[in-house]
Amino acid sequence: MLDNDERGKKIVVVSHCILNQNCVVQPMARAKGAFKIASRFIEEGIGIIQLPCPELRHFGLERKPMSKFDYDTPIHREMCRHMLRPVIKEIEEYIAHDYEVFGIIGVEDSPNCDINENRGIFMQELFKLLIDKNIKLRSFEVPLDYDELK
Ligand code: SF4
Repeated sequence: MLDNDERGKKIVVVSHCILNQNCVVQPMARAKGAFKIASRFIEEGIGIIQLPCPELRHFGLERKPMSKFDYDTPIHREMCRHMLRPVIKEIEEYIAHDYEVFGIIGVEDSPNCDINENRGIFMQELFKLLIDKNIKLRSFEVPLDYDELK
């Protein structure tokens, strides 16, 4: 195996909008672009895997706010799995090569990306795929009241 560079071999997986608030339902953006918390990872030399945004992919930028119940359809779940399979392969590959994938950061109260209290549809599918591969990752969330534009 090649081991001739100084990469940090540390990676975090984040919901798409943590790095790109342009994708959220209007007018819900909480930063102009990426959340500033991302700069912490950059400063610490941690790589960032940006998950795709299932809502943008399914309903586009002009979508209306929808509930978790609205998103809980077979077609949306299948679309989530389809988007997630390549990411799971990448995570598996990193772990197989002794990289530290130390966690996933979701978004509290999102119908798709909430992880903890009321797990969203996209994260439900993500964690099912991770369990199928026997991958355990810590999880964190951007809190509901986090807002850089207030
Ligand atoms: S679906 Fe997830 S990534 Fe997309 S805007 Fe909502 S919280 Fe962000």
